[in-house]
Amino acid sequence: MSKLKFGARIGILGGGQLGRMLAGAAAKLGFDVSIYCPEADAPASRVAGESVRAGYDQLDRVLAWAQTCDAITYEFENVPVSTVGHLIRNGQIVRPGLKALEMSQDRIREKTFLRSCAIPTAEFFAIQCGDDIGPALTQLGGAGLLKTCSDGYDGKGQSRIAAGDDDEAIFRALGSRPCVLEGLVPFRCEVSVIAARGLQGDIVCYDIPENIHKDGILKRSTVPAALTHNIMQDAFRAASRLVETLDYVGVLALEFFVLPDGRLIANEFAPRVHNSGHWTVEACLTGQFEQHIRAVAGWSLGSVERTLDVEMENVLGEDLDSLDDDMPATASLTLYGKRDAKRGRKMGHWVRLNGSI
Ligand code: AMP
Repeated sequence: MSKLKFGARIGILGGGQLGRMLAGAAAKLGFDVSIYCPEADAPASRVAGESVRAGYDQLDRVLAWAQTCDAITYEFENVPVSTVGHLIRNGQIVRPGLKALEMSQDRIREKTFLRSCAIPTAEFFAIQCGDDIGPALTQLGGAGLLKTCSDGYDGKGQSRIAAGDDDEAIFRALGSRPCVLEGLVPFRCEVSVIAARGLQGDIVCYDIPENIHKDGILKRSTVPAALTHNIMQDAFRAASRLVETLDYVGVLALEFFVLPDGRLIANEFAPRVHNSGHWTVEACLTGQFEQHIRAVAGWSLGSVERTLDVEMENVLGEDLDSLDDDMPATASLTLYGKRDAKRGRKMGHWVRLNGSI
């Protein structure tokens, strides 16, 4: 059980905004940070002390880089399992480990795993070709959501589908790749649990945000979600079972649909810090980025106590021009330093604290 010394060096696989905010939190705790990612001019590279630009499949390169670090973490779930496996086999410390990556990179494996942890999911069917869709749709009552098994994010790689649609054309539009057909969940709202597990197995969960999505992209998180005490406890217990079963070290987000009767249906989990947890930086004693770094370092976890009610809103490329008008004057703004403000691209977020709790 190795605990990093003060001033040690943490390597982060991935150069996006989550890596950038992790790097800031690591610097706050006195660590040196090195980023490894294939992109030039990445948001995280520009704030870290060092950055290596190379592909995740360049195993010699990535191992040589990792050997200059005391522990490695990742900021996105599509880092190849083979890369992380190579680092671990060669004696590198990678937190969280491999299992969470393996389970979250394929939607069918992920849902099967969630169910094995007694966490309910939507009904689902594996789809290998267009012909598989019709019979599965019949079993789902005639409508569903077809999602690629891998590489989908922010509502990309998915399509609503109903009886009578051109199954073959929809399957082709998703790239003719293995898919999962999910039943449509008639949810009342969506929430997420941001949980952290330390190296000694200690677990903490932040208060639960309610999340509003627009076009499949998170728009706003509001804390606390309007849930009963019992539902919150169910959600905390599910997230705790999940991180324990994964033998997870770090911060993880588990997303739920809440049914009108209060039952929770898991959608997916992210083995990393999460967009719906950004408000923890302003509203909690220990924000999710610092929490993750503490766990990666093998340090004790920080308090997740929340001092105020809070809302967080994402700033997308199309929101930048009207930001001055739309953002409340009392909000705290974080921008990710991305060069191109494309439509639908997450450029930053703002957080507003709403009175005392
Ligand atoms: P995902 O890419 O799985 O995170 O889905 C993006 C968003 O699509 C979710 O946050 C929901 O708003 C919606 N969604 C995904 N799966 C379902 C489902 N099975 N039933 C209803 N809505 C869904």
